[in-house]
Amino acid sequence: MSPGNSSPFDWQRFDRDHLWHPYTSMLEPLPVFAVVAASGVELELADGRRLVDGMSSWWAAIHGYNVPELNAALSTQAQRMSHVMFGGLAHQPAAELGRRLVAMTAEPLQYLFLADSGSVAVEVAIKMALQYWFAQGKQEKQRLLTVRGGYHGDTFGAMAVCDPVNGMHGLFHGVLPQHLFAPVPGCADDAVWDESHIAEFAQLLRAHRHEVAAVILEPLVQGAGGMRFYCPDYLRRVRALCDECDVLLILDEIATGFGRTGTLFAYEQAGIVPDILTLGKALTGGTLTLAATLTTERVARGIGADGSGVLMHGPTFMGNPLACAVANASIDLLLASPWQQRVAAIEAQLRRELAPCREFSCVREVRVKGAIGVIELTEAVDMRWVQPRLVELGVWIRPFGKLLYVMPPFVIEGVQLSRLTAAMGQVVAEIAAR
Ligand SMILES: *Cc1c(COP(=O)(O)O)cnc(C)c1O
Repeated sequence: MSPGNSSPFDWQRFDRDHLWHPYTSMLEPLPVFAVVAASGVELELADGRRLVDGMSSWWAAIHGYNVPELNAALSTQAQRMSHVMFGGLAHQPAAELGRRLVAMTAEPLQYLFLADSGSVAVEVAIKMALQYWFAQGKQEKQRLLTVRGGYHGDTFGAMAVCDPVNGMHGLFHGVLPQHLFAPVPGCADDAVWDESHIAEFAQLLRAHRHEVAAVILEPLVQGAGGMRFYCPDYLRRVRALCDECDVLLILDEIATGFGRTGTLFAYEQAGIVPDILTLGKALTGGTLTLAATLTTERVARGIGADGSGVLMHGPTFMGNPLACAVANASIDLLLASPWQQRVAAIEAQLRRELAPCREFSCVREVRVKGAIGVIELTEAVDMRWVQPRLVELGVWIRPFGKLLYVMPPFVIEGVQLSRLTAAMGQVVAEIAAR
């Protein structure tokens, strides 16, 4: 099939035969659905069907799709400059974004690195922590401590702190650095605090404090590692233990940032401040890839303390002006919107409409936090059946493993959200009857 060939290009076939999708095999590709447009909270398929989007394209499209304000920011910036290198050059969109992020996060977070994807922002966070201790003359502080059930990205540094069982550690054994893993935070979202919840974590951190550079965690919500929620008291204790043991705290808010859990950032609910914070996903409202790693004066200046200290990172597309411009527009749009009420309304409706699913024997748990609704089943779903079935029901929901879950755009209307919950209920009923 050469270009210029008169037969039309069968792009869907080419896709199936040549393109990897996330976590797929070239030998047994899973069915994919051809999408041709997206606007509001709907995706339009090539066959004309319209699906209500329950995923926000993996936490990102908080304003929905084809948003006039974001499109305008993109085209205005594209006419000035889409990209220039950040080495030796500075531009207003990046500084504007820095100003916004510094203003909207906790006061001590004053310095930032603009990376090109979430995984890279995590790599930068890890580098900041290691370089900080190197510069203090504490070369032995090179390990990270985290909890099981986490997800921090697919690059090697990030992968090494993902859950060791479902995070591909077996496959890459011998290649990944060996970090320390405490149990999954055991305290439910609304549980009464008990010190036993943090006992193993505390023991592990105290025993290894001399070699631990940082603790890295997703605050309150473990996303792609299992869609689990845990209580703010746990985070408060983690902060205190990090201080006690002279260890930095990295919070990865790539999924939770920008309002998803009901506060702009999840750490606010625990009343703590991390030493290093990673952001991504919803940063550009889901339009372009961009991420940020923020840190405090102590860490930023500490990296240079031994006189040699430059932060050793600098991707080609760092601080991309187009991405920064649309991130600025997305943040402005978010802050000018009644996002708290929207997230609270989504939360209340998800609680109400998903609760009946608890009655099915195939359901282990139904849980809701902010604009996130999760049905955990007793067994993994059969994707070859469930994905087309959900599309038939008019929704875009992408389950994984035992999890059927939604995190819709904040602008979703009540009736559209009901279509998502009805489809989830329908699929659960059908699984129970199989
Ligand atoms: C998605 C995610 C990442 C990785 O971001 P990418 O942009 O996919 O590289 C890291 N941490 C968390 C918590 C995430 O949800």
